[in-house]
Amino acid sequence: PSRQEVSYFGAGPAPLPTSVVEAGANAFVNFNDAGLGLGEISHRSPTANKILNDAKANLSALLDIPDNYEILFMQAGGSGEFSAVVQNLVPVWIERRRRRAEVDVKKAQPDAEQAEVDELVFQRLQKEIDEELKLDYLVTGSWSLKASQEASRLIGSKYVNVALDARKANGGKFGTIPAEDSWSLTPTKKEGGKGSAFVYFCDNETVDGVEFQQFPKSLEAQGQDAEDERLVVADMSSNFISRKVDVSKYAVIFGGAQKNIGVTGITIAIVRKDLLPSPHRDSSPCSPPPNNSLYNTLPIFNLWIAGQVMADLMAEFSAQKVSGQEEVANKKAQLIYGALDKFPQVYQVVPDASVRSRMNICFRVSGGDDTKEKEFIAGAEKRLLQGLKGHRSVGGMRASNYNAVPLENVQKLVQYLEDFATAQ
Ligand code: PLP
Repeated sequence: PSRQEVSYFGAGPAPLPTSVVEAGANAFVNFNDAGLGLGEISHRSPTANKILNDAKANLSALLDIPDNYEILFMQAGGSGEFSAVVQNLVPVWIERRRRRAEVDVKKAQPDAEQAEVDELVFQRLQKEIDEELKLDYLVTGSWSLKASQEASRLIGSKYVNVALDARKANGGKFGTIPAEDSWSLTPTKKEGGKGSAFVYFCDNETVDGVEFQQFPKSLEAQGQDAEDERLVVADMSSNFISRKVDVSKYAVIFGGAQKNIGVTGITIAIVRKDLLPSPHRDSSPCSPPPNNSLYNTLPIFNLWIAGQVMADLMAEFSAQKVSGQEEVANKKAQLIYGALDKFPQVYQVVPDASVRSRMNICFRVSGGDDTKEKEFIAGAEKRLLQGLKGHRSVGGMRASNYNAVPLENVQKLVQYLEDFATAQ
């Protein structure tokens, strides 16, 4: 079949806009008629530099990213960021504590020699790390669970506070986000505590079809004091540039490109600049300085694809920016959920109605009956509706409704949902 005939709903890698794929074929062979493809040119060449700067500018414009944030393009995938946030933000916490300890020690013992100060600071820091270092995780699905497990592996489970395990309130399964007053976040100074190094959540859980409907209220900054601020880290791998985001509320936003933005191989991180390791900060041995995304060899072809997707979104929605894409995404998701809800005997949406993802629509057919689900998939394949199988860990169906899924393909799916249901 041709591209036009196939409707692909895969969860990632996911479909790309046909215009980008077609231009990409040329760019891979002979970019701008310069005799070389984008997989071949130097990542430090003027051409690469322009691609990098354009991609940053378009992403910045789409999401209204404030000036005090850096955009980094990297390669380690969403999973790489599970480790990177721990490796980078724990040193930030330690450095803040070290500075404060030094001030306190010097105040208490103004005549002490530097070596003595250092020793006292070191002792206090050791105690504080042992007793007070906490990373808060909101576990609402498979990916935030994985991220919390990675944090435990890296620094020890004693330091990881699972402030919410959404399975506990839902019979051992993901599918809800319990009310915020049931979360056990490490208290901030205002709340009588000392705060955590960061709070982590996954904005959209790809496997479980659970999406935060808005920024959690309890993660809002509570005052000017650094200890009243929660450094919020969000994994937006599967809902990146699909709705408006107030970037200023986050310390770090990250996501792999292979769902809404491009092909696998590029990971985007938007990081508040004061949290980045600087060449002058020697307390962060784990992480290299960001170096305008050129610390290692950046895959320029993959970056170009992501840049094209962003440039096209800017061109299509101009002043509306990402809100334009949000409207489209909402409309497509409503069409699919609408068709599913029309036939409750045949289709059962997995997550609770209050947390339904607009990006990954997870449902069962006939209560998860194996024969019926196989029949559903076979019928879909006949119509060239592909990639509808749920993640292997949970089974069922999953229709991924990323930005590049055209409305016509959603309409074809909706038609099939209706036809299959009425034939039952
Ligand atoms: N986070 C989310 C929400 C994901 O959906 C995925 C992959 O599907 C990942 C992280 C992991 O990304 P990667 O495969 O790029 O490491």
